[in-house]
Amino acid sequence: MSLFANLSEAEPDAAFALIEAYKADNFPFKVDLSPGFYRDEDARPWILPSVEKAKQQLWSDSTTDHEHLPILGHTALLDRAQSLIFGATCKDAATIASIQTIAGTGANHLGALFLAKARRPRSVWISDPTWINHHEIWQWVDSRIERQTYPYFNKQSFTINFEDTISTLKLKAKEGDIVIFHGCAHNPTGIDFTKDQWKAVAAVCEEKNLVPFFDVAYQGFATGDLAEDAWSVRHFFYNTSLEMLVAQSFSKNFGLYGERVGVLHVVCRTEIAKSKTLNMLSRLSRAEITTAPINGARIVAKVLGDADLKQQWQKDLLHMSHRMKSMRKRLLDALLKYQTPGSWDHILTDIGMFSMTGLQPDQIRQLKGIYHIYLLPSGRISITGLTEHNVEYVAMSINKVVT
Ligand code: PMP
Repeated sequence: MSLFANLSEAEPDAAFALIEAYKADNFPFKVDLSPGFYRDEDARPWILPSVEKAKQQLWSDSTTDHEHLPILGHTALLDRAQSLIFGATCKDAATIASIQTIAGTGANHLGALFLAKARRPRSVWISDPTWINHHEIWQWVDSRIERQTYPYFNKQSFTINFEDTISTLKLKAKEGDIVIFHGCAHNPTGIDFTKDQWKAVAAVCEEKNLVPFFDVAYQGFATGDLAEDAWSVRHFFYNTSLEMLVAQSFSKNFGLYGERVGVLHVVCRTEIAKSKTLNMLSRLSRAEITTAPINGARIVAKVLGDADLKQQWQKDLLHMSHRMKSMRKRLLDALLKYQTPGSWDHILTDIGMFSMTGLQPDQIRQLKGIYHIYLLPSGRISITGLTEHNVEYVAMSINKVVT
C-alpha cells in the first residue's frame, strides 16, 4: 500500500475547474464570468501596450541574459514597487523590508510564513467572504494559528457590515493578532470601506495593537487611479505607527498573470527590525524558491522606471477600468430593462472586476447548464467577461433563471 493512499480527498479548486469546463464547452455563445482575468472587448486576453513596448525594448537588447536575480529580487523593481504603493515620500517615512515573490499569492504566502515563524500569532482575522486562497494559505502555513472571520459583507443588502466588523475586531481580536485587509477592490464583493471607515478601522488596529496585513492585488486596476487605490495602505502607513505587511501583486494591473510578479513589504519602523526582517525573509525565500523569476520583474521595473512607458501604463489602466465601468452600466441597464427580480443597483457602484449577484446555487447551475454562462458557486461574477456582444444575453438569461 502506498504511503500516500490515506491522504484526504479535497474538492478540486472551483475556479480552475470552471475554467476547464468553459474551455471544453463548444456552444458558440458561451460566456465566462468566472475567472479574475481581464478580458478585452471581444472577451480575449489583452496585452497592455505599455507591456508590449517594454518587452520590445528589453528583448532587443542583446545584453539581456538569463542569470539569477539576487535573493531579495530585482533591485529596481523593489524600489519602484515601494514608491508605487506607499507613495514617493515613503523612503523618508519608515523602514520597509521588501522582497520579490511569486506574484500576490507568493507574497501572501511568504508573509504568512514569516508571521508564523517570527511571531506565531494566536489568530488571523479574515473577511467573510474573501479570496479563497487566504484560508488555504494560512491553513497550510500553520494550522495552529486560528483562522477567524470578521463579518464584512451583508448578503441581503449588498453592503458592508461596518458596525459588526468594528465590534468583532474590538471585542474579539487580541493584541498581536493579524488582520487581513483587501487594500482596494475587495474580492469577491467589489465593495471597499469608505475613507472614514478605513480611519475607524485603523484606529481599532492601533488601540488593540493588531497587525494589519494588506493584500493589494488591484492597484490602478480598480479605479484607474494609482493613488486612490493605495489610499487605505497609505493611511495606515503615514497616519499610524503600526507595523504592517503588504502583499503586492502585478498580475492584474500589468496583465502579467502567468509571469508571477509580486512583492512582499514588511513595514518595520526601525532599522534594526528591518535588517533582521530582511534576513529572515531571505532565508525563508531561499529555502522555498532560491530566487524569484526574472522575466516579468524586468518588465514591471522597466515600465515603472521610464516616464513614457509609465504614462502609457496609466492610460492602459484607465482603459481597463473604463471598460469595466461601462460594462457594469450596460449590465445594470439590461437587468432593469428585463425587470429582473432582485437587487442590482450595487452592480454599478461596486469597484474592480467582481460583484456578488445573490444568485442561488440552483440558478447558477441553470445558467451553466442551459445558457452556457459560467460563474462561481458563490454567485460572484467577473465583469471583464462581459462584452457589447454578450451583455444582453447574460441579462436575459439571469432574468430567466430568477423569474
Ligand atoms: N489577492 C487577491 C484578493 C486576489 O484577488 C488575487 C488574485 N485573484 C491575488 C491576491 C493573487 O493574485 P496573483 O497571485 O495572481 O498575483
